[in-house]
Amino acid sequence: MEEKREIINRYRRLLRKSKPVLKGNDAKLIKRAFTLALEAHKDMRRKSGEPFIFHPLSVAEICVEEIGLGTTAIIAALIHDVVEDTDIELADIERMFGKKIAKIVDGLTKVSGVFEYGTSQQAENFRKMLFTLSEDVRVILIKLADRLHNMRTLESMPRNKQLKIASETIYLYAPLAHRLGLNAIKTELEDLYLRFTDGAVYNEINNKIDESKATRNKFIKQFVAPIKEELDRLKVDYEIKGRPKSIFSIYNKMRKQNIPYEEVYDLFAIRIIIDSPLEQEKSFCWQVYSIVTDYYTPNPDRLRDWISTPKANGYESLHTTVMAKNGHWVEVQIRTKRMDEIAEKGYAAHWKYKDSISNQESNLEKWLVRVRETLEKQDTTALEFVDDFRGNLFTEEVFVFTPRGELKTLPAGATALDFAFDIHTDIGAKCIGAKVNQKLVPINHALKNGDQIEILTSSKQKPNDDWLRFVVTQKAKAKIKDLLKEAKRKLADEGKEVLQRKMKQLKIDSTNQVFEAMRTFFNVNSQLDLHYAVATGRIGLSELKRFKEYKPESPRPKVEEIRREGEPHARKPHEDILLIGEDMDVVEYKLAKCCTPIPGDEVFGFVTMNEGIKIHRTNCTNAPELLSNHGHRVIKAKWTSQHEVAFLTGLKVVGTDRVGLINDVSKIISEELKVNMSSIAFRSNQGIFDGEIMLYVNDTRHLDLLIKKLEKVEGVVKVSRFDSATMSRPQ
Ligand code: MN
Repeated sequence: MEEKREIINRYRRLLRKSKPVLKGNDAKLIKRAFTLALEAHKDMRRKSGEPFIFHPLSVAEICVEEIGLGTTAIIAALIHDVVEDTDIELADIERMFGKKIAKIVDGLTKVSGVFEYGTSQQAENFRKMLFTLSEDVRVILIKLADRLHNMRTLESMPRNKQLKIASETIYLYAPLAHRLGLNAIKTELEDLYLRFTDGAVYNEINNKIDESKATRNKFIKQFVAPIKEELDRLKVDYEIKGRPKSIFSIYNKMRKQNIPYEEVYDLFAIRIIIDSPLEQEKSFCWQVYSIVTDYYTPNPDRLRDWISTPKANGYESLHTTVMAKNGHWVEVQIRTKRMDEIAEKGYAAHWKYKDSISNQESNLEKWLVRVRETLEKQDTTALEFVDDFRGNLFTEEVFVFTPRGELKTLPAGATALDFAFDIHTDIGAKCIGAKVNQKLVPINHALKNGDQIEILTSSKQKPNDDWLRFVVTQKAKAKIKDLLKEAKRKLADEGKEVLQRKMKQLKIDSTNQVFEAMRTFFNVNSQLDLHYAVATGRIGLSELKRFKEYKPESPRPKVEEIRREGEPHARKPHEDILLIGEDMDVVEYKLAKCCTPIPGDEVFGFVTMNEGIKIHRTNCTNAPELLSNHGHRVIKAKWTSQHEVAFLTGLKVVGTDRVGLINDVSKIISEELKVNMSSIAFRSNQGIFDGEIMLYVNDTRHLDLLIKKLEKVEGVVKVSRFDSATMSRPQ
């Protein structure tokens, strides 16, 4: 059969690619795993209609080829879905392949069962996966390969699944790949995310990159010609590549700076990869730097030396930005073959060079230790954990020094307080300030590269809630939370005694029922909170008297109940314009304020705790978090044909100032197009003006028409849509 032959072909291709890593009877074991998976999945098909076995085969191939893993990973990848989807149990796996592989497969198998309220199953899965990571980092690497293949084949999934999987990917997996230094995979995951959440933009950028290819190549050829000549004279092997930026990173630039594709100036970088003996890597790279800057003037602010101090994810490279002959800045990346392989393949490539390099390795090891520490903390919920964990993945970092000149690497944005906690919990807990480069600074002072820090402490210092806002490292956050809890417990103990004394005084019985009634009356969650409230004085003698007089028969409002009726109601759009849920019902909803959707936008519904269904754009900045952590609360939503209903949206207008321009702009809006404006604000500065207009439109077509018209106004340079406010929390 055709299909059988294709399966065998793919299996052979995997063997061929794994050949360099095979030892002893590895091939036999791989065959055993393949046979097991083939049999176990024999009746299963993927959503695309393909035989299921294609999936584990592809995952195994990614492990070998794109991550550089060996036999253990290949076997685990081949059988990674077996336990979850078939009758085969972990014990069988252990019998056939041993403990190590069984452990990895267990880590790759999703957790099932009941979850506490408010946690996402996905977060729970993720946490479990990381548990196994502490024993074997391959679990994560195989999981990333699994995710990559699922993203590559996302096309055949239903739309809501696409959104959920893509969002999880951008929220957790891409940052994780970045943290493990798997740059190629990180980039592909990000691009695929964009392709499935905002296909139009993805295609637009992709096409533009294609169109400019010929010009780009010509430019690169001219740019590198003199450099090539010099390198040839040096008699080293080298390779020069012109690398276009990823679609996702271009998109990010456009979005962040609110500029069109044409105005993104660093659309590509030149990469020079040289072959160098290990001992001479650094001097070779600087030699190349010197050649490049002999021909082109470097921008002194943009020199990055990640060879002397590699990034925490192991990245090593020398970057400079130089002025080309055509007046454009060009980034040049200089690195050795070894550095390049590590930059693309990350963690696994490190192992290959383990004997030769120890420094970067230990950075990753340190990170793993930190992950382990967090995992061992029992009292965080899965969601909290994922949040914290994510916070730790974004690792632009600062390099700072202790008074003795010891180098410390902290995440960018880290403060003096982070530094204090990094040194020791006790020092953090007693920190009252610091001396940075001999100058006195407060504890929330953000550190910069090269700072030398001396922490000042006082035995009288105590952490407070504000401190949580002063730190960015997970370690400091966790310690502060611990300290605050401990302090609260201590205070509550004192409160308990006070309460008992006062109750005696007022002749209130101390039975369980009374305490229950008190908790309701004072609106506190637990006994601990009750005692704490007494200790802090929120509940005193007069409050207790009121409690005593309170008769449960005559219901009274709770002490702390907050009435919310005065809240302004969101303007309710026409009811039959949006269809929601699987049956595409017409239900009540509100439009999210963070991304202000209008008809024509791709949207989804999100069931909020107290405010019903909210509609967000699929490219809303809050979408990844909502979709990946609260997938079960997401529902499908789709616009039907447009009605004469108006939606609030924002336009940004930039141009050169002239008399009467604002008048012309508002005339077009209100007279010609009969659009209602809700607000208009213009700033003018040295001949340049920029304005923000909030107005009501019917749909995206209407908006596009308006933008086109406004762009024709004399003096207007650019008109673009913006989301009403850049808020960090979903609204
Ligand atoms: Mn899978």
